[in-house]
Amino acid sequence: MRRKLVAGNWKMNGTRASLAELDGIAAAAAAAPGVDVSVAVPFTLIDAAAARVPALAVGAEDVHEADSGAHTGCVSAAMVKEAGARFTIAGHSERRADQHETSHDAWAKAAAAHRNGLDVILCCGETEAERDAGRAERVVQAQIEKSVPDNATGDWFTLAYEPRWAIGTGRTPTLDEIAAIHAIARAKLRHMVGDAADGIRILYGGSVVGSNAGAILRCENVDGALVGGASLTAAKFVPIIEAAA
Ligand code: PGA
Repeated sequence: MRRKLVAGNWKMNGTRASLAELDGIAAAAAAAPGVDVSVAVPFTLIDAAAARVPALAVGAEDVHEADSGAHTGCVSAAMVKEAGARFTIAGHSERRADQHETSHDAWAKAAAAHRNGLDVILCCGETEAERDAGRAERVVQAQIEKSVPDNATGDWFTLAYEPRWAIGTGRTPTLDEIAAIHAIARAKLRHMVGDAADGIRILYGGSVVGSNAGAILRCENVDGALVGGASLTAAKFVPIIEAAA
């Protein structure tokens, strides 16, 4: 009942020349009608990306929690929506680490996005120290508790489990570890939003590549992938889309 979602996150990468990669990604998405494919790009590329590949869901990597105002250098959900974004990421661990964003901030950003008609991919995930201390499950539960809006439903909200130590490192949890966190995340969502939890997709993110995507995507409660480095080129991203099909 939950369609697989393969979402790219270009982070602070890409110029107009990079948009040519979207052509191959859009072609792969068209060849995999059972899979939803989306790409979050830097603010500067949203309008050109959305115009270039209208069939692909283009999104933002972050939005401000306010709709407008005196926030120099920030960008609102309404602005990225006008530029052509259909969704935004919220609470990515790089923003939590670099900009000191909290789970409450992620919650406010998700609410602002939804208020302005954007879908949301909200990220959670433990650090390596937290996993080593046996606290991964509790950390993820607490992040979900504080960041998931209580009106979340699958038609606009997606959760992404991204262990911080797996992002950009080439390391991933075992399949059992992934399935364990996803089961706990699903249970926590059910506790918060009731039966709507069954419709909410939970993505895995962190060093997903073509060679490991198939096994990860077959884990119970894994409804797709959030992909950083391997989403930057069609050559690397298309095999992940194919693995989800
Ligand atoms: P990665 O990043 O695929 O490069 O590990 C994932 C993410 O940060 O979303």
